[in-house]
Amino acid sequence: MGKPVGGEHNIWREWTEKYARRIKKIRENPNPKLARSNIILYEMMYNQARRELDAWESGSKVPVMYCNENSPVRLYMSLGFRTYHIEMFADRLTREQARRYFDLARGHGFPENACDRVQLTAGVGISGHLPPPSICATVPGDCDTMAQALLYVGRFWKVPTFAIDIPFEVNIEAVLYVKEQLEQIVDFCQQTFPDYIRYDEARLTELQKLYEETWKLESEIFELSATKPCPVSGRDALRMPPIQLYDDPMMVDYFRSFRDELKERAEQGKSVLKDGVERFRVYWMCSAPFYEDPFSFLEERGCAVPCYEEGPGAPSRYAVRDYEDAERRFGRALRHPLEEEAGVLVTCHWGNVAERRIQEVLRNSQRLGIEGIVHFMQPGCLPCNNMAKVLGERAEKELGIKNIYIEGWCQDMEKHDEAEFEAKLADWLNLCLAEKEAKQKSQ
Ligand code: SF4
Repeated sequence: MGKPVGGEHNIWREWTEKYARRIKKIRENPNPKLARSNIILYEMMYNQARRELDAWESGSKVPVMYCNENSPVRLYMSLGFRTYHIEMFADRLTREQARRYFDLARGHGFPENACDRVQLTAGVGISGHLPPPSICATVPGDCDTMAQALLYVGRFWKVPTFAIDIPFEVNIEAVLYVKEQLEQIVDFCQQTFPDYIRYDEARLTELQKLYEETWKLESEIFELSATKPCPVSGRDALRMPPIQLYDDPMMVDYFRSFRDELKERAEQGKSVLKDGVERFRVYWMCSAPFYEDPFSFLEERGCAVPCYEEGPGAPSRYAVRDYEDAERRFGRALRHPLEEEAGVLVTCHWGNVAERRIQEVLRNSQRLGIEGIVHFMQPGCLPCNNMAKVLGERAEKELGIKNIYIEGWCQDMEKHDEAEFEAKLADWLNLCLAEKEAKQKSQ
């Protein structure tokens, strides 16, 4: 018998075990604070891990695309790639896996003070514990260090790399400029992998329709989060839509089921807050410690976390096949599927100029009745840390929103001090509540 694929560690195999355990746990002993629909999410993740493990073990020759950031995953999937969003994979690592890939990345000279996600993208990418890439494609423009991590992975494996150039401007010229680059990628991939990769517009349109449906549900989820007391838990609000699963039709079931649950909770006045009383509500920025639960800590104190900046329905990116929205943003409807993908890329959440993100956060804050913003300051995060103060000052000045700037690590639990982190949150919350009470009394 030959050496098992992945050697000693095979991430897909480890994930089949992890998700099987998680599904079993939710079935047998569900956490009443978390959405029941999460089981669909874990089933999708389990299915993907099983499928990819089988493909790897059976020696599949279908090319693997490593991508990250705001990549046009629907396009890559429709071309026929096995599409691995390595950045999202880095977020799914178990504690043991995270330790392993930190060590690997740092052993290759990656600085410890780059953001955790960047280090882990590099570590997972070069590990060989996933099928190696046939090509790597990134999208600088929102997070350049993340883009560099994937380009490094491409150089490590000596495979072709692409970086899509995204202009700052949001207009039709920007869309067409990006569309042209997508066409170049398509041409290159068809020529490089002629037996497996071909442009399939019908499939791309099918995936876009799936996303259109998903996005509408996400938007409803966002609107339901405005209900007081808050029906959604912070842990569920923090779940970024799993873009690595955009070709799975179960995605629509997942969001529909999540929406229905929230609707039911909102109608019944149910919430995850202590005694069902909401005293304060916050918007969560950047990232969070994945290995602990600061949300329950806040919820126990009456503080709701209905929204994470990349959570369901929160980003104001163009969401495909919305002709009126395209007219408003770009001056005309986008009629070609590649234009649609380009439209999504040029309106990415962390990209463009700072003012666009500020306006998005202010608008969402008004819609949800936000009173405070938690800026999770992850060392090495240029997009969030550089802008946090500017964003916080605008939110305070224009909407009276209170801000906390709190250092933390999303995956490196050895650097994180849970007691200190929670003490800072508690002190800040107490101050906010005291100020709110004083203001109410004076009115
Ligand atoms: S947390 Fe910041 S530095 Fe890290 S990947 Fe996200 S945007 Fe980039």
